[in-house]
Parts: sequence; structure tokens; C-alpha cells
Amino acid sequence: MVLLGPPGAGKGTQAKLLCERLGIAHVSTGDLFRRAIDAGTPAGAKARSYVESGHLVPDDLVLEIVANYVAEQGGSGMCFDGFPRTHAQAEALDEVLARHSTSVSVALILDLADDVALDRLVGRGRVDDDDTTVRHRLELYHEMTEPLVSYFKQFGLVRRFNGDANIHTVSLRIDEALEGVAA
Ligand code: AMP
Repeated sequence: MVLLGPPGAGKGTQAKLLCERLGIAHVSTGDLFRRAIDAGTPAGAKARSYVESGHLVPDDLVLEIVANYVAEQGGSGMCFDGFPRTHAQAEALDEVLARHSTSVSVALILDLADDVALDRLVGRGRVDDDDTTVRHRLELYHEMTEPLVSYFKQFGLVRRFNGDANIHTVSLRIDEALEGVAA
């Protein structure tokens, strides 16, 4: 499954809860990049300036890190958090999964108004959480990632949630929506 939404919508929190409940792997591309940066790997060095300034990491680098992860995991039972973020990434994900004889079974969208996201994030403590960078990340979300809702809609995979509700409520709604979705 994939989990999309603007920064601050609670993707990481919900992905963690969901993966624990379902016993599937939580794949946050943001976490993979932060880990690679901290570990000083070549991929981390290439991604660093993009992550710190809130730009999107170039698709080829994102896809490399995802393909490596999927190859390690074997391609089943994964929740992608914050990936795909561009049309090219969405199409590439389909191809990577097809190579492992699987496909996206559901796209969960967490919606949140920009002003609420700003309130939640600015000053949270990450280097990319200052006001200017959060605004930029929100712009990129609307421009590059939100169109993916239509992409996944054409395959009937979209389930949308109000990310402004409390954590427990969102989690419950997601559970309800997943009943009847093939794993
Ligand atoms: P996140 O933890 O999801 O908020 O991601 C933090 C940062 O990592 C983003 O602002 C981007 O710089 C980078 N990043 C994470 N996932 C992606 C992705 N799928 N495509 C491009 N950049 C990404």
C-alpha cells in the first residue's frame, strides 16, 4: 500500500500503527534518506542538500533506494510512506512491484489544510521544519504529489481521510477502509 499526504498530515504516525497491526514493513523514503545521510553513504551525500532544503530528491536516486529496499524485502507486505511523490515514481513503483509479481493494493490519502500543516510542523525540530522550507514542501506536494490521487483513482485504489482528526480516529477509519481490501 502507499500512503500519501502533505507534510504534517500524520503519514509517519499512521504508517507505523498500520504496519504494526498488519505485520508489514514500513518504508518511509524520508527515513531512508535521513538514515543514509547520517551514515554518510554515497546516496546520502547526494540526497543531503535536497532533503535539508525541502526539495524533492531526484527520481533516479529515490528509485534506486526504493528498488534496493524492495529487493531486500522480497516485494510483499509493504507500506510506502511518502512515496511515490511524482508521476514518474508512481509508474516506476508499478514496474518494480510487477517484477516481484505484486502491485499496489490501496492508496491511502491523508488530507490536511496548509495552515494546519504549518502550525503542526514549524519548529518541530527537523532541519527541514522552518517556516520557509515547510511552505516549499507544501507547494511541492500540491504541484507534484497531489496529482497522484487521480493517478491511483483510475485504478480504483484511493481511500481518503481527514488528517485533522485525532490519531486514534484516523487509525480507526483506515482500519475500516482496509476491510475488504486484498492484502
Ligand atoms: P518526509 O520524511 O517524507 O517528509 O521526507 C523528507 C524529505 O525527504 C523530503 O522533503 C524530500 O527532500 C525527501 N524525500 C522523501 N521521500 C521522497 C520522494 N518519494 N521523492 C523525493 N524526495 C523525497
